[in-house]
Amino acid sequence: MSFIAKKAGSISPSSTLAIDSKFKSMKAQGLDVVGFGAGEPDFDTPQHIKEAAIAAIMEGKTKYTPASGTLELKEAICRKLMRDNGLCYKPENIVVSNGAKHSLVNVFMAICDPGDEVIIPAPYWVSYPEMVKLADGVPVILTTTEENGFKFSIEDLEAAITPKTRAIVINSPSNPTGMIYTKEELAKIASVAVKNNIYVVSDEIYEHLAYGEKPVSIASLGDEIRDLTIIVNGVSKTYAMTGWRIGYTASKADIAKAMSNVQSHATSNPNTIAQVAAVCALDGPMETIDMMRAAFEERRNYMVERMNSIEGVSCLMPGGAFYVMMNIKKLFGREIAGCKIETSDDFANAFLEKAKVAVVPGSGFGAEGYVRWSYATSMENIKEGLDRLEKFLAE
Ligand code: PMP
Ligand code: GLU
Repeated sequence: MSFIAKKAGSISPSSTLAIDSKFKSMKAQGLDVVGFGAGEPDFDTPQHIKEAAIAAIMEGKTKYTPASGTLELKEAICRKLMRDNGLCYKPENIVVSNGAKHSLVNVFMAICDPGDEVIIPAPYWVSYPEMVKLADGVPVILTTTEENGFKFSIEDLEAAITPKTRAIVINSPSNPTGMIYTKEELAKIASVAVKNNIYVVSDEIYEHLAYGEKPVSIASLGDEIRDLTIIVNGVSKTYAMTGWRIGYTASKADIAKAMSNVQSHATSNPNTIAQVAAVCALDGPMETIDMMRAAFEERRNYMVERMNSIEGVSCLMPGGAFYVMMNIKKLFGREIAGCKIETSDDFANAFLEKAKVAVVPGSGFGAEGYVRWSYATSMENIKEGLDRLEKFLAE
């Protein structure tokens, strides 16, 4: 056995990516498998963005850029923050990274000293606790319930705060629940953050995928909270650009500087060609986003209605993102297709093995008793997956 450092040894793999790669390898073997694993838009990157990247290559924009991103992209991000969020930032507030995942790692590296606590409401996106651990911080999980729409109460938040609390993570719309905080709820969170002088890491990557009221950025609620907020966003979900790997942060300039310094040693600049493409995406037309949002909404409505009509499972109507958390608690203790179901992992394994449908167990999201379905896939797949669910549960 090789020596593995304690920190690396304590990190669990990303369950979303693990399910996705299992699904892809089953598919490559020719198996008739349907995937609801990774949250990745099934639409192609819009043509005008691809053309901008091809032009960048032909024009020789193929060299290193400043570690924290090009001035052109930082300016485009500032224009986006003003246009969509009414926020005025300067290029010195922006750091561009290799995806919002990388941005988040930089954030925790920049703000956590060893032992500093970061409050993470559960269900959470799988990577947050592991990222905090990588930065020698301590994830403090704030449990929420389905009855409360997967939202925590202000009393619970205040009770979780200790002298070691450095930050709270909010993700609205949420992966995996699709929950969206209202402006009033954000104002309350902001006042607690300001009172206790803690950072708010606001992951806004699904901001354009909301099917009712538009999500609000907590940073827009006043100067004090804006100074404490580190906005995380990227082009992966909005522009169907998951493989291009461009994410960014907006924060106070000194935090941006610290993140940029970390990044300058870890990865240098994000891909130069992808940065040119991201400028084109951010400054470009919004019609393709509207088209994707409308398709996601139709799929969400179908999935939720069907799921709630199937005996033994249920789900809430998510307000945004492209995930549904299916409650499977009633199935616990049952044997389905010869498999005993005691946990969300048991369900996900049996469902994949016997019905050839890939979903992500709730365990990785701090949500035992649930599995996550992504509806960023075709209506045909969604119908097939739910037909298979119905058949599987009838066994
Ligand atoms: N935040 C959340 C909540 C996500 O679901 C994702 C999905 N990958 C990310 C951040 C990171 O996205 P990316 O690294 O592709 O920009
Ligand atoms: N964020 C997406 C998901 O939750 C993509 C996979 C990942 O980066 O974890 O499925």
